Amino acid sequence: MSLLGAAQIRELAAALDLKPSKSLGQNFVIDSNICTKIVRIAGVTKDDIALEIGPGLGSLTLALLHSAASVVAVEIDHRLATQLPITVAQHYEHPENLMVINSDALAVMELPLQPTVLVANLPYNVSVPVLLHLLERFPTLRTGVVMVQAEVADRLAGSPGTKEYGIPSVKAAWWAEVKAAGSVSRSVFWPAPNVDSKLVSFTRRATPGDEVLRKKTFAIIDGAFAQRRKMLRSALSSLYGSSSAAQGILQRAGIDPTLRGEALEMSSFCAIAAVAPDNF
Ligand code: SAM
Repeated sequence: MSLLGAAQIRELAAALDLKPSKSLGQNFVIDSNICTKIVRIAGVTKDDIALEIGPGLGSLTLALLHSAASVVAVEIDHRLATQLPITVAQHYEHPENLMVINSDALAVMELPLQPTVLVANLPYNVSVPVLLHLLERFPTLRTGVVMVQAEVADRLAGSPGTKEYGIPSVKAAWWAEVKAAGSVSRSVFWPAPNVDSKLVSFTRRATPGDEVLRKKTFAIIDGAFAQRRKMLRSALSSLYGSSSAAQGILQRAGIDPTLRGEALEMSSFCAIAAVAPDNF
C-alpha cells in the first residue's frame, strides 16, 4: 500500500507553495499509521462508499481508497481539490475510484454517490456543524469515525449530568450513537496544532421522531443550553413567552421544571417537544 509520509506531505505542500491556513483548520496528518488505524476503526470494507470531508493533501484519502469501493472527498480549498486526483493517480492504481468535490461541506446538499461511511479529519472550527449537517442530509451514512479537537470529542460523546454534555451531545444523539474512539498525538500533524485531538465513532440509529419533532426538539435544546446554569422553566421562558408557560409545558411533559438541561436525556427533550406548541 502506498501512503503519504512526512517527507511527501512537505514536498507536496512546497510544490503547491501551500502555507497551511489556520482558519481552514489545515493541520495535515504526516503519519500514515494513524490513517490506517482510523480506516480500520471505521470498519471500512469494499462494499462501502466512503465520504471524506477535508481530504487536504490526501493522507487519509489514500488509506480509504485501499479499503473502500470508492471515496467521495469534499474539499473547500481549490488548490488542494485540484491537486488531490493528481496525487492519487501517482499512488493508487484505481484513481477513478475517487471523486473530488470542491465545496464547503456545509453547502453540500447532494453527492454523486450515496455514502455509507464518513471518515474524516474534520476542520476543527466547523466540525460539529459539518457532522450534524451530514447526518441530517445523507441518511445512507450508517457509520463513521471522525477526528476532532479533544474537547469537542468529549462533548459529542458526553453523557447527561456531566460538564461535557451539551448541544453537540444531544443533537448528535438524535441521529446516532456516538462513542469516544481514542486519542491522537499532536506529533502526527503538520503543522502541530495547539490543541489535542481525539477520534469519535458513530453508528446511526432510528431517529426518535419526524422532522417536525426534530426541529422543535432542537429549538428546545438550544434554549435549554443557552443558559445552562438556569432551571429549565427559566431557560425556556423566552421560547414560550414566560416562565409560567414554560413550567406548564414541562409539567405536561412530566419533566421537573427545576431541573437544568444538562440533566435531560434526548427522550426528555423529545417529550417536551411533543407537548410544546408548534408556533415558535
Ligand atoms: N484530511 C487531511 C489530513 O488528515 O491530513 C486534512 C485535514 S485538515 C484538519 C482539514 C481539511 O479540511 C483541510 O484540507 C481544509 O482545507 C478542509 N476544510 C476546511 N474547511 C472546510 C469546509 N468547510 N468544507 C470542506 N473542507 C474544508
